[in-house]
Amino acid sequence: LPGPSLLSFEDADIAPLLPVPDAESDKYRRGLLAVRAGSAHYRGAAVLTVGGALRTGVGMVRYAGPSPVVDQVLARWPEVVADDVDPLSSTDLDPGRAAAVVIGPGRGVLPGNVDELHVVLESDLPVLADADALTIIAAGTLSDLVRTRTAPTLLTPHAGELARLLDTDREEVEARRLEHVTRAARELNCTVLLKGSTTLIAHPGSPVAANGTGTPLLATAGSGDVLSGIIGALMASGLPATEAAVCGAHLHGRAAVLAHDGAPISASDLLSGIPRAIARIR
Ligand code: AMP
Ligand code: MG
Repeated sequence: LPGPSLLSFEDADIAPLLPVPDAESDKYRRGLLAVRAGSAHYRGAAVLTVGGALRTGVGMVRYAGPSPVVDQVLARWPEVVADDVDPLSSTDLDPGRAAAVVIGPGRGVLPGNVDELHVVLESDLPVLADADALTIIAAGTLSDLVRTRTAPTLLTPHAGELARLLDTDREEVEARRLEHVTRAARELNCTVLLKGSTTLIAHPGSPVAANGTGTPLLATAGSGDVLSGIIGALMASGLPATEAAVCGAHLHGRAAVLAHDGAPISASDLLSGIPRAIARIR
């Protein structure tokens, strides 16, 4: 559990970090986010990740994925610019077409997914890697690429995913969360957000931040996908990865509390809470 050495944040600390569009804003300057989530087996992960980003506020979301997933994303979010070519030949990562990338939720761990992650990590864009992308990194082939990137990288594991990244077991991570998230950030040379009832955010050489918002009702399938979209939107808006992680975790927890009204919620319900949370925090 968090001790006094952890940084903690109130609404008043988060408010100045939230991007506010002004008269000079246009959709390009507000931030373009490329989303590489979802697969034929997990179409909903794409819908939830994209939804988290759109509800947080971003200039544009570009989605690249298999065509049945593109159909599903567009049916729910017609504002998305979608590309149903093979993600490896998509131009959504070209300079000027994206300011940040979210990759991994429901994406798969097949060889094609490894190649896709390789291309994304080789880009100069800030990258948030979650879920299946973490599984691929944990398998070892791309961990050196993560370590040596010069653009910001944010990994968002839950305890099981962090255990795989560190080659230990979940119980060990749960028993010493602060120690393990710190070690992962140092060893992988990037920002690591460890999810759980208290979310911890570590960056090499910086004090660890603990998120104080949220509710156990967040323990439901898909809520992590929404978090990826929220943080991705903040990264695309220009927030540094660590600040985007702190701000996004705060917002995600606040959105859940505003959405639940005492009763259980599903991950989709979180989406309507995001703009309400932003309005309250500002
Ligand atoms: P995932 O495991 O990727 O679906 O992510 C689950 C999300 O729900 C993360 O943002 C967690 O921090 C959050 N969460 C899970 N369990 C709890 C809990 N018991 N209390 C508060 N938040 C939780
Ligand atoms: Mg997850």
